[in-house]
Amino acid sequence: MHLQGSCHCGAVRFSVEAHQPYPFMRCYCSICRKTAGGGGYAINLGADYASLTVEGEEHLSIYRARLESGEASTGQRHFCRHCGSALWLYDPTWPELVHPHASAIDTPLPLPPEHVHMMLGSRAPWVEVACKPNDRCFDDYPDESLADWHRRHGLTD
Ligand SMILES: [Zn+2]
Ligand SMILES: [Zn+2]
Repeated sequence: MHLQGSCHCGAVRFSVEAHQPYPFMRCYCSICRKTAGGGGYAINLGADYASLTVEGEEHLSIYRARLESGEASTGQRHFCRHCGSALWLYDPTWPELVHPHASAIDTPLPLPPEHVHMMLGSRAPWVEVACKPNDRCFDDYPDESLADWHRRHGLTD
């Protein structure tokens, strides 16, 4: 699926091909909550890094979170340095992938048939988890990748 995205002020626009465009994965970790998750979680999609094109690259900044171990995360959180919109995560550990935030995408995304709630062990006490009957919940990482979830639901192209 071809996705177009932008930050709120419009300084950064991007497009990317996504093989995992269903916004089903909600991450409640403190990094996602603070940087991109006003509702308590953020949603990342799975896309092909080689297809990413960016307009206004000079307006980007990158945040590398400090982990509990004291080390900087390898994940590079790209955001607009003018308006602060969280745009995508790129991690050189998986160089072929890029994870755009669903919130930055302007193309209408498909509604997921069910959700995965991850990192619930880190969720804030005020966050209500809207866990529907077929949803799956994990205190830390889920046992299924973005790609495997799409495959299991027959939603791969
Ligand atoms: Zn902006
Ligand atoms: Zn997270």
